[in-house]
Amino acid sequence: MNKRAVALLSGGLDSTLAIKLMLEQGIEVHALNFLTVFCTCTSKGCTHQATKVAEEFKVPIKVMNITKEYMEIVKNPKYPRGRNMNPCIDCRIFTFKKAKDFMEEIKASFVITGEVIGQRPMSQRKQAIMTIEKESGLQGLIVRPLSAKFFELTIPEKEGIVDRNRLLDIHGRRRNQQMALAKKFSINDYPCPAGGCLLTDKGFSARLKDLLKYKPDYNISDLHLLKIGRHFRISDSLKFIVGRDSKENEKIMNLSEKDDFIFDILDIPSAIGLARSSEANPSMLLGVGSVSFAQKDIELMASILARYSDSDGKSVIVSYCVLPEQNWENIPAISANKDFLDTIRI
Ligand code: SF4
Repeated sequence: MNKRAVALLSGGLDSTLAIKLMLEQGIEVHALNFLTVFCTCTSKGCTHQATKVAEEFKVPIKVMNITKEYMEIVKNPKYPRGRNMNPCIDCRIFTFKKAKDFMEEIKASFVITGEVIGQRPMSQRKQAIMTIEKESGLQGLIVRPLSAKFFELTIPEKEGIVDRNRLLDIHGRRRNQQMALAKKFSINDYPCPAGGCLLTDKGFSARLKDLLKYKPDYNISDLHLLKIGRHFRISDSLKFIVGRDSKENEKIMNLSEKDDFIFDILDIPSAIGLARSSEANPSMLLGVGSVSFAQKDIELMASILARYSDSDGKSVIVSYCVLPEQNWENIPAISANKDFLDTIRI
């Protein structure tokens, strides 16, 4: 067994401290960061913070974008989810398996994590931690510097690679000890919260469930859109997303794709609306400019957009087009009723 280890680095305080404690013991740390669309850290994402930490500590870092594979776990977890769509136990097993593969690839001997026992309701309870360790094939090979005293000796400790006396006994949700350690090590910048990813959020989970139900062949842009705007279910095959501010309007435009419908009000300040269908040929279905069975959907979406404009209850002209042509059509609309909107809001 050598002194090389793979450290799971989210960019949060706990994983940062875990690495620091191991570096203090002369361990050769190789950081591993996982990137999914569900990360909640800084606006630039967890990877940015993890990269910053790795640079500061002068350790190599590998960033793995795992969204595609990870979605299979999100859809069909083996273990019970948390309160919302978060499959925490399966998620940890998955990331530990990835860490094991990376460990073997770089010929490292063990894995380091910033886990703190009892910090999170599900995946950081001792029983769950042991299940995760067993299923990932890393039994005895996971060193948790912050909570090590609550666990059996690991192989690196038994072999004298890691000094158990210099490992800690932090537990629970209070973060005082971590804050004190951060101060001691002069770690000041740790924006990633200890909370979970977006899958732990009730509203986000409702939007994800809706997507999986009505568009099982979703793409990555569908997943990114779940993070922004107000979402409305117009019909089984049609969803309408309205930006909440200029930044979201811009993001909506950046995430738009061929066959999406864009709604805008050109005369007065308003949000941008994006209608996305799960049908193969949405523009044929809706028939831009022609009266079709879906004309009522266009009228509804126009009235929703009017609601999020400066129309002040007056009739406005809403313009819409299908991408990428941008042949704009106009339709008059009056702001939709709020109570009704609540019934179709996802
Ligand atoms: S909160 Fe999200 S990222 Fe964290 S373990 Fe649960 S599912 Fe995985």
